[in-house]
Amino acid sequence: MKSAIAVVALLTACGPGQGLNDRWTVRKPVQVIIEDQPLDSTEARRALAEGLRQLGFQTTETGAGQTITAVRDDCTCASCNRNTAAWVDPVSYDVIRVCDRAGVAARDLGAARAADLILKHELGHVLGLRGHTPSGLLSARLDDHADIRSFTQSDITAICDAGGLASPVCL
Ligand SMILES: [Zn+2]
Repeated sequence: MKSAIAVVALLTACGPGQGLNDRWTVRKPVQVIIEDQPLDSTEARRALAEGLRQLGFQTTETGAGQTITAVRDDCTCASCNRNTAAWVDPVSYDVIRVCDRAGVAARDLGAARAADLILKHELGHVLGLRGHTPSGLLSARLDDHADIRSFTQSDITAICDAGGLASPVCL
């Protein structure tokens, strides 16, 4: 086991979700766009596509009206601190901003695992979750879900309860 790291992937105090009612629907595929950012691009794309599939989405390589983008960010947001690995743009809610700290996590945890832990967590915020869960991928501290690679049932319930996702997994 690697030494404990304290990477906190959080989204707090970035304002309430606005008009998110069923904003995301599995009736349309999602295009995942990975820009230059600190995580391995291939693993980042895989992790997001995998997380989306688990929630009932298909992904596409072409523009589909629903996109999720991962970009590098200097992470000076109001809720960011030195442990923040990534955060979600509080205006569009479809941009995951990845901090250089995520690169440190990738060195500690491996590229694939770091992409799962950080990007699937942020995907939960993109899809509507504003807070965190006590356990699972959507717990606030990466240390608290370092062995979890996919959404737990409580993660899925929390995302569904947030009201932004229209998917059979929420029925
Ligand atoms: Zn979070």
